[in-house]
Amino acid sequence: MAKIAFGNEFTYKKFVESGKEQEFDRLFDDAVNSVKKEFGRKHPMYIGGKEVFASDTLTERSPIDGTVIGQFQKGTREHARQAIKAAQEAFEEWSATGYAERASLFRKAADVFSSHKFELSAILSFENGKSRYESVGEVDEAIDFIRYYANELEINKGYLRKTSLQRSTTKVSAGFQGAPSTREEKVQIRMVPYGVFGVIAPFNFPVSISAGMSTGAMITGNTVVFKPSSSDSMTMLVGLKIYEYLKEAGIPAGVFNYVTGPGSEVGDEFVVNRDVAGIVFTGSRAVGTGMIMKAYGLGLQKTFVVEMGGKNAVIVSKNADLDMAVSGVASAAFGFDGQKCSATSRVYVHDSIKEMFISKLIDKARSFRIGNPLDKSVYMGPLISNNALKTYADAIDKAKSSGRLLYGGNRIDTGLDGLYVEPAIVEVRPDHELVRKELFVPVLIVQGYKDFDDAVNLANDVDYGLTAGLYSKNRKEILAFINHVQAGTVYLNRDTSATTGAIVGLHTFVGWKGSSVGGKGSGSKFYLQQFMREQSISLTK
Ligand code: NAP
Repeated sequence: MAKIAFGNEFTYKKFVESGKEQEFDRLFDDAVNSVKKEFGRKHPMYIGGKEVFASDTLTERSPIDGTVIGQFQKGTREHARQAIKAAQEAFEEWSATGYAERASLFRKAADVFSSHKFELSAILSFENGKSRYESVGEVDEAIDFIRYYANELEINKGYLRKTSLQRSTTKVSAGFQGAPSTREEKVQIRMVPYGVFGVIAPFNFPVSISAGMSTGAMITGNTVVFKPSSSDSMTMLVGLKIYEYLKEAGIPAGVFNYVTGPGSEVGDEFVVNRDVAGIVFTGSRAVGTGMIMKAYGLGLQKTFVVEMGGKNAVIVSKNADLDMAVSGVASAAFGFDGQKCSATSRVYVHDSIKEMFISKLIDKARSFRIGNPLDKSVYMGPLISNNALKTYADAIDKAKSSGRLLYGGNRIDTGLDGLYVEPAIVEVRPDHELVRKELFVPVLIVQGYKDFDDAVNLANDVDYGLTAGLYSKNRKEILAFINHVQAGTVYLNRDTSATTGAIVGLHTFVGWKGSSVGGKGSGSKFYLQQFMREQSISLTK
C-alpha cells in the first residue's frame, strides 16, 4: 500500500500565497448566497440510513440576525434508543471491515468535505456567528483531523501486533510463572473497538470537533450515534452536512446515525443505556463530569473520552516583546468573542509594564470591528445565546462592583437582531470568583505580578489546565514556565495567538486537570487508542 504523507489543508494561506485572496473571498461570498437559499427547510434525523421525524421540531436561528436556518427534529429518548439499535446492528460488519478499507473510506470523506468546504464554512458562519477566516479554518481542521486519523490507523497497521515464543526443550512437570513451553506459542495482540459510541458535540467547533470525535470512534471500528448541539446554541445544519458528506463518501447506513434533540434527553440516553459502550464528549465540565458520575453511579461500565472547559492564563514578563504579547493576547481573548475553550481569559503582567500593556491592549481591542461576521472586515460577531449575554453582563457587573472595568462592557447596537458586545478588560483580586469560573464570553482579566514564580502559581491556581501562554525572551523564565505550568497545550511567544489555534499534526490539543479525562489530545498519536480496548490472543501449536 502506498504511504500517503499527511499535509494540512491551510486553505486561506494557500489562496493568499498564490495571489488569489480575492478568489477566496468570492468563493466564500458565493457560498453565503447559495446556502441561504436552503434556509428555512424542514430536516429529518437519519437513523439506520432512513429519514426519521419526531412529533416536535426545533427552529434554528442564526445568532447574526435571527434568520431561520431550518426546522429540525426534536428527537426524544425513544429516537436515541432507535439509533443505538441501528448502530448496534451495523457494528458486526463495520468492525470486521479491514482497517485499510476504513482508512480509505475516511480519506474519501476528507475529500468530500474538502470539495464542499466553502459551502460548509458559510453555513458555519451563519450558525456560530464566526468570521470567514474562523469558519474556513475550522473546516480545514475537520479535514485535517480525518486525514490525520486515517494516516495514524495505517501507520499503526490497525493496531495489530504479533509476537511468538519458540518451543523449548526444557521439560517441566507442572506449569509455573515463566514456565518454558514445549510447543511454539503464537500471540496476536490487537486493539478491538468497543461497540456503539455516543458522540456529543459542543456548539463552538461544531464541524471540526464533531468530525474529529466521530472519525476517531468510527475509523477504529465502532459505530456512532451523533448528537449535535440542539438547545439554545444550535448547530444542527452543519451536523446534517457531516452526515451527508459521510454518506457520500460511502460510510455504510447505520454506522453513523444523526439524532437531533436536547442533551438532557438524547445525550442522557447515551449515558444510561447499557447498549452504549462509550461516549466521546466535548463540552462544559459540569456536563462532562456529570455524565461520568451518573453512568458509574448506575453501575454501568462505559468508556469516556471527554474534553472540557478551560480558564486559560498567559504570563507577560518584563522580558517580553510587548507588541507581540498585546496582539497575541487580544486575538486569543476576543477572537470568536472568547467562545473558544482555548481562549485566554486571564493575563498576568509584570508590574513594571502593566499600565503600558493595558493601554496597548485597549487600543488593540478598540480596533476590532464588531458586527456582521459575514462582512470580511469584522473581527467579532455576535454572542451565541441569551445565556452568554447574561454571563457577560453579570461578569461586567461583578467587575464594576468589586474590581475595575478597564475597557468595554457594553452591548452594541449593530442594527442587526443579534447579541453584540464589546470586548471587555477587567481587573479583579486573585481570589475573585471571576478568576476561577469559565465564562466563555469576551471578558479578559488582567492582574499584575512582581515575582515570576508567583505568576506561574497564579496561572496554575484554577481547576482547569487546557492551554497556557508565555511571552518572555528570558531563558530562565521560559524553563521555569515549561517545567511548572499545569496545562496540556502550552505556547511560548506565539505571535498570532497566545493560546488558541492548535494545528493538526503540529500540536496536539490536550487538557490537564479539570479540562479533560484521560489526558490524551485530539490530533495526537494517542487519540485513536482511546476508542479501542486491547486483547491478547495466544495460540499454542
Ligand atoms: P455544553 O453546554 O456542556 O454542551 C455540550 C453538549 O452536551 C451539547 O451537545 C449538549 O446538548 C450536551 N448536553 C447537555 N446536557 C447534557 C446531558 N445532561 N447529558 C448529555 N449531554 C448533554 O457545552 P457548550 O456550551 O456546547 O460548549 C462550550 C463548552 O465546551 C465550554 O465549556 C468549552 O470550554 C468546552 N469545549 C471544550 C473543548 C476542548 O477541546 N476541551 C473544545 C470546545 C469546547 P444540547 O446543547 O443539545 O442540550
